[in-house]
Amino acid sequence: MTQALTPAQREELKALLLVRQRELLAQMQQNRENLAPPAADQDGIVQGNVGREVDQVLTDIDTADLARIRLALDAMEDGSYGLCAECGCDIPFERLRAEPQTQHCVPCKSRWEAAQGAAR
Ligand SMILES: [Zn+2]
Repeated sequence: MTQALTPAQREELKALLLVRQRELLAQMQQNRENLAPPAADQDGIVQGNVGREVDQVLTDIDTADLARIRLALDAMEDGSYGLCAECGCDIPFERLRAEPQTQHCVPCKSRWEAAQGAAR
């Protein structure tokens, strides 16, 4: 059995989530600036297409992460934070501290990842 979060742990995780949210928003802002129309270099060849695609992928990942952080912050408000969305167990604090926006305990996440791997 794992313990439910103490108020102090919850506060610590909330702070972590807010920091990550701020970092992601800054990162996305940066990416959007990188996605601005590219300037032609001296040879008139447009550079940076590959970089732009990578930035786009990163932006998509950031968007998904940001959505998870918002969900986690919402869950914190309604008291469901720290519970596995799959099996309903209390997610261990150590795991939440490593990945505060997670919504699954380790066994459920592993199962999900195994299922994803098998589907490919
Ligand atoms: Zn679970």
